[in-house]
Amino acid sequence: MPGNQRVGIMGGTFDPIHIGHLVIAEAVRIEYLLDKIIFIPAANPPHKQNSCVTDAMARYAMTVLATYSNPYFFVSDIELRRAGPSYSIDTVKALIELYGKQTEFYFITGADTIQEIPTWKDIDDLLNLCNFVATARPGCINSIDNIVSYFGEKGRRRIHRLVTPELEISSTDIRQRIKLGKSIKYIVPESVENYLYKEKLY
Ligand code: ATP
Ligand code: MG
Repeated sequence: MPGNQRVGIMGGTFDPIHIGHLVIAEAVRIEYLLDKIIFIPAANPPHKQNSCVTDAMARYAMTVLATYSNPYFFVSDIELRRAGPSYSIDTVKALIELYGKQTEFYFITGADTIQEIPTWKDIDDLLNLCNFVATARPGCINSIDNIVSYFGEKGRRRIHRLVTPELEISSTDIRQRIKLGKSIKYIVPESVENYLYKEKLY
């Protein structure tokens, strides 16, 4: 595989994947001239261990359906195949093995997730291995600066901030809407909508 690629990493539970995820991924791809973005559904998210997460294969399938039409988007089952909690440090190390050390990685997050990274396993090492792009999300915009300064010089070098269209959409809200019999049209891709109803996921 050729070196010097720029690769985006879009981690998430994707329960289900929605247009908020797709819009930030595409915005980061364009802004940072990424060669590709790998969507990585988490098997067993360390921050969500107490909540009930939908079957991993169903979340994987929805992620494939949602990203299929974008030639720059790919889906990896790397975290689904690994036993135990999904730590990003392990995922990024595995991707470096795969793509080579010259590859530049950009870990894409919403503004809520970037606030949590100080609690992530081996975050200091992770910041040595990849960049983070924090996209603005309603209600959490100012907090990104605090995180950048929390990590000092490394934070300023490694954590980038990108203003993206703000879509007040979350998987939690979508699951709730389905339970209440409300429409989720245009909030998730049509293929995902068809799949989750057919499989009666929520
Ligand atoms: P949940 O409500 O179950 O937590 P979610 O909508 O937050 O779901 P996740 O799979 O937890 O989705 O998020 C994956 C990544 O996408 C995270 O970095 C999160 O911050 C980001 N993200 C999710 N929804 C949006 C959105 N509407 N706008 C921008 N970023 C988002
Ligand atoms: Mg979330």
